[in-house]
Amino acid sequence: MKEIATAPAGAPSAEEAEAKVFLPVYHHLDLEVERGEGVYVFTADGRRYLDLYGGHAVAIFGYGHPQLVRTLDEQARSLFFQSNAVPLQVRAAAGRKLIGISPPGLDKVFLINSGAEANENALRLAFRRNPGRQRVVAIEGAFHGRTAGAAAITANSSRWYAFPHKPFEVDYVPRGDAQALRRAMTEEVAALIVEPVQGQAGAFALGKEFLEAGRAAADACGAVYIFDEVQCGMGRMGAPLAATFYGVTPDIVTLGKGIAGGFPAAAVLTKPEVASGLGVGDLGTTFGGGPLACALISTVVDCLRTENICANVREISAYIRETCRIGPVLDIQGEGLLLGLRTAAPGKLLQNALLERGILTGSAGDPHIVRLLPPLTLQREHVDQLIEALREIG
Ligand code: PLP
Repeated sequence: MKEIATAPAGAPSAEEAEAKVFLPVYHHLDLEVERGEGVYVFTADGRRYLDLYGGHAVAIFGYGHPQLVRTLDEQARSLFFQSNAVPLQVRAAAGRKLIGISPPGLDKVFLINSGAEANENALRLAFRRNPGRQRVVAIEGAFHGRTAGAAAITANSSRWYAFPHKPFEVDYVPRGDAQALRRAMTEEVAALIVEPVQGQAGAFALGKEFLEAGRAAADACGAVYIFDEVQCGMGRMGAPLAATFYGVTPDIVTLGKGIAGGFPAAAVLTKPEVASGLGVGDLGTTFGGGPLACALISTVVDCLRTENICANVREISAYIRETCRIGPVLDIQGEGLLLGLRTAAPGKLLQNALLERGILTGSAGDPHIVRLLPPLTLQREHVDQLIEALREIG
């Protein structure tokens, strides 16, 4: 039997310790985080960082939010886990809460664990709805996840796809090109999938007009229209969902990331008619819809309302746009608190300079974008810290 090592005294850094046991698939920031509080994370040696990245948009209420902690504690004590083999009040409540923040018509829910799984299941619903169709239309720069179906609709995934072939044909339409979108939407297309504001690409808002063109084109050819709101949903736009923010209702919305405040969870919201004919065993999961995730989903939805989160997002987003186009920042793109700071020099340089000044940000597919995905509880005083750092960097 292999020896299972515990960290010896005078242990190596987390970087070294991880490198010994994990596959080398992640780029690491030069930062060993020990704990988080509010919108800050702290290193073992006591340094404090303003977290404007939120662990890939997951920490939507920051760290140690009292209601999330209380919910987790209470739910863990009462029922840690049960599968979908038994109905649970806590699961039904989470479903009702999600429907409550969705546009009219999106009245059915399927719970899973990650954004990729949400998109995978959304695609499966679309192909079931449109049997015989072979194509999906996606948008230039799209990121939808790393499972086989979700990766098939992710731009440039062929670099790491690794499976022998993709399960269906995919056409990518340039952002904002409604004409190209209409041309691509033929009767061979089972689904059109968009991120209303593209995340990984670098906070590119597709815009209301383009999203409406997608609605019309999907209706014209009978395709299922999917909003991937894994990154831009759950209050990040300053509205509960991007669908409500833009006033465009798709057939399916997928959610993930911060939906349970940091606990793994994701959801597919669908119009019932898209899922018609679905029966026992057609979709499934072991962990999806577990009681811990469900209790947290309900708390997140409640807090969006009671803590006036959407209004705060709108205010802080406007403040960033008004004040942060300074120093190395040429322009700011995106919506709500999914923003991209555009720089002339590689964004990596600005990201490093901010990190040196105690501010954590994200990179993006566009090498001249530094991405901001902060907790939605961010306040003006935190933005002031960013302004000061940008001035100093010059
Ligand atoms: N969709 C979007 C828009 C995302 O940003 C991501 C992750 O970054 C995913 C899907 C995949 O989510 P996950 O990593 O939870 O599978």
